[in-house]
Amino acid sequence: MKPDSSLQNIALRLEQIHARITAAAHRAARHPADITLVAVSKTHSPDHVRAAVAAGCYTFGENRVQEAAPKIAALQDLPRRPRWHMIGHLQRNKARLAVELFDLIQSVDSLRLAESLNQHAHDLGRRVPILLQVNVSGEVSKEGFALPGGIANHAAYAQLSTEIERILTLPNLEVRGLMTIPPLAEEPEASRPYFRLLRELRTDLARRWPQANWRDLSMGMSDDFEVAISEEATIIRLGRAIFGER
Ligand SMILES: *Cc1c(COP(=O)(O)O)cnc(C)c1O
Repeated sequence: MKPDSSLQNIALRLEQIHARITAAAHRAARHPADITLVAVSKTHSPDHVRAAVAAGCYTFGENRVQEAAPKIAALQDLPRRPRWHMIGHLQRNKARLAVELFDLIQSVDSLRLAESLNQHAHDLGRRVPILLQVNVSGEVSKEGFALPGGIANHAAYAQLSTEIERILTLPNLEVRGLMTIPPLAEEPEASRPYFRLLRELRTDLARRWPQANWRDLSMGMSDDFEVAISEEATIIRLGRAIFGER
């Protein structure tokens, strides 16, 4: 049976998900506390967010600035402000608003966008945490810095390295790691090679730029988060598993 999108089951589903995260972490000899669950609330109402907050969830993901802005505004009265992550493609004309709204921008996918975010962060007197979204599959529909095949793709990696070198000099951005979206698949295990490529990239970046922070690996969604945890994901992004079908 497909999960429905009503509010009633959110707490129950979150409880089951936390149990699965804990089990997957233990299988990988990891601490569950090192894995941040982002509840992807795109297309869902502020009341869905409230239900998740009531069940102890404090980090939410949105993929469109225009949708997130009124939702975040409608939730100002919460006793504790949730953390909001931008996980969708960001147009540069929305960069300023994104800097104002989000605690982490996971979907930085070009040098130009990074430079734009840096400028707005400077103007707003802020330092913005970001992840670099990397497309390790080569699937054309996916956003992200193109690195099909991962670090073995020397030409693409040389290009990416030049851009990373530049991004790391931007004073109002704080790089914290990498994000990826694997191709849609039937089997959770089909995502593993892509998660592994991202993990290997992180290891290599940490070796080459040890002064930067490469801690976070944002990978894993409703259908493959346990595989992602076994490949060292520190952030998993779950929509349907929490809120039901969109
Ligand atoms: C929608 C979305 C998710 C959540 O997907 P589910 O399959 O609902 O878990 C995760 N990451 C990104 C970037 C998304 O756009």
